[in-house]
Amino acid sequence: MDAMTTSNKILNNFIAQIARDYPQFKFQPGAQEHWSPRTNTITYKDSEPAEELRYGLLHELAHALLDHNNYQSDFELLKMEAEAWRLAAKIGRKYKIKLDDGHIQDCLDTYRDWLHRRSKCPACEMHVLQVNPVTYKCFNCGTEWQVSARRFARPYRLKTT
Ligand SMILES: [Zn+2]
Ligand SMILES: [Zn+2]
Repeated sequence: MDAMTTSNKILNNFIAQIARDYPQFKFQPGAQEHWSPRTNTITYKDSEPAEELRYGLLHELAHALLDHNNYQSDFELLKMEAEAWRLAAKIGRKYKIKLDDGHIQDCLDTYRDWLHRRSKCPACEMHVLQVNPVTYKCFNCGTEWQVSARRFARPYRLKTT
């Protein structure tokens, strides 16, 4: 058996084991990893290298277990991402998978950078808080600006009401 076949087998065993341990969710391979509360399905990216695939699968499983359905603001989304990684790391330990902290911080940094860009007042460069899912208002100079509700095509809905 060559190395590739062996690692595929280990990976398939891992996915099968997770699916057995969490029978309340459906697991399926797909182009984009995500968690869909609507169909109760966790999609993992089967084109990824084994390690990232496992990380991604554990991360989406964590979103599912935390019942992440929607979020009201960019900051809340960032918080949910951090929570999901924390739980993913905990679940990973059960399967002897150590989530690399650098990988987690890289993923969170993507969100932090995004939040940083969106929250900066275009007029005075002050960083301010969001008024609602699509609006920021600067407390310093009064400028208001709109942001798109969906940046990462998040699987769970952004609540606008
Ligand atoms: Zn996530
Ligand atoms: Zn301003």
